[in-house]
Amino acid sequence: MDYDTVIIGAGPGGSMTAKTAAELGLDVLLVEKRPEIGMPVRCGEGTGIKGLKELGIPKNKKYIAWETKGEYIYSPDGKRLEIVEDEPNGYVLERRMFDKYLALYAAKAGADIRTRTYAMGIKRENGFLRIKLKHFNEVYEVSCKIVVGADGIEGTVGKWTGLENRTKLSQMTSNVQYEMVGLKLENPEVMEFYLGRKIAPGGYAWVFPKGEDIANVGLGIRPTGKDTAFEYLNRFISSHDYLKKGKKVGMVVGGVPVQGPITKSVTDNVLLVGDAARHVDPLTGGGMYNAMVCGRIAAKVIREAVDTQNFSEEFLMKYENEWREKVGAGLMRSLKVKEVLEKLSDEQMNQIGKFLRGMKIGKLDIKEVSTSLLKLPPEFIKFVESLL
Ligand SMILES: Cc1cc2nc3c(=O)[nH]c(=O)nc-3n(C[C@H](O)[C@H](O)[C@H](O)COP(=O)(O)OP(=O)(O)OC[C@H]3O[C@@H](n4cnc5c(N)ncnc54)[C@H](O)[C@@H]3O)c2cc1C
Repeated sequence: MDYDTVIIGAGPGGSMTAKTAAELGLDVLLVEKRPEIGMPVRCGEGTGIKGLKELGIPKNKKYIAWETKGEYIYSPDGKRLEIVEDEPNGYVLERRMFDKYLALYAAKAGADIRTRTYAMGIKRENGFLRIKLKHFNEVYEVSCKIVVGADGIEGTVGKWTGLENRTKLSQMTSNVQYEMVGLKLENPEVMEFYLGRKIAPGGYAWVFPKGEDIANVGLGIRPTGKDTAFEYLNRFISSHDYLKKGKKVGMVVGGVPVQGPITKSVTDNVLLVGDAARHVDPLTGGGMYNAMVCGRIAAKVIREAVDTQNFSEEFLMKYENEWREKVGAGLMRSLKVKEVLEKLSDEQMNQIGKFLRGMKIGKLDIKEVSTSLLKLPPEFIKFVESLL
């Protein structure tokens, strides 16, 4: 056997799995098809400080661009709900560096890493797996006990191994973002979210600061067949004075699966992690934390599987049960809130905004937005129901 585990995809999910598995003493190979880990970036780069701390990721200036203290959430009428804390609670990262450093931490822990190495297929042999890899023109195989599909939204490990994880176009948001400089940000310490059918139908627009006058300005929409995300974003920018004089220095496009987690993430010798298992939050589109936290759970279960030499689906269900316990309820709650939000007209959203502003919420971690919304008093839930 060449490796205990081969992990396909060096995004946050794959690298966190590789790092934890190597720390637990397993022989690990992490393969990434791109020549450079972290590139190209497909992310708004916003995340919570609490989550990274929980995962033991060092606070390193190499990949933390900026700290934020809260959110301004704008309803379609342009009025905002301010949720700002005294201390920083969010980071805007440099994903190209963050992903690279996570892989570097995995390598330091003992994982082997092969970039520009494309996984082409998987076959089963005597209870183990052989993974076909391609590096430039060289095609070869490695054997392992367990493979982890951390291969993101375009991943094929699920398809190769009989796990249904395809995402239809209708179940994705289409996202586009510019990195912009020369902006006149009113408060560079907050992440801004803009809601509204005319702004971003089925999604939202965001302004995530990366400096006093630098920000990721983007939006995600459910494709309507009419205007593209790109057209919505250009319109959004030109309708805001503080954005329209800024200069665009980079562009990101990508899809986010927003239909909630897959129904089954394990089969014999195989686990899926992160976007490949649709661990991304359907409401916010945030997926980094969930990918990493599930990767860490996966690594621990792989350690136990190797110790007991049991690579069966039945045993690996431990992973599925644990990730559902950790993030499953939150994902389902977000899905529910998203489905409610999608039904609201702009006027109804304005009314909810007014209601929430009246409540003077004050503190709220955006990562827990869905949980918090459902924790609001029954009168709020009734209020929303009365609008539907
Ligand atoms: C525009 C946009 C904005 C976003 N903003 C945020 C945000 O602000 N905050 C947040 O938390 N999340 C955000 N997300 C979501 C976040 O980027 C993902 O949820 C996160 O990257 C998932 O991590 P992952 O490790 O599961 O997959 P990925 O990061 O997608 O990594 C998968 C890796 O697998 C590799 N791969 C695929 N197939 C193969 C193969 N056959 N062989 C070898 N390698 C392979 C890919 O090259 C890739 O590097 C955003 C997404 C988009 C598109």
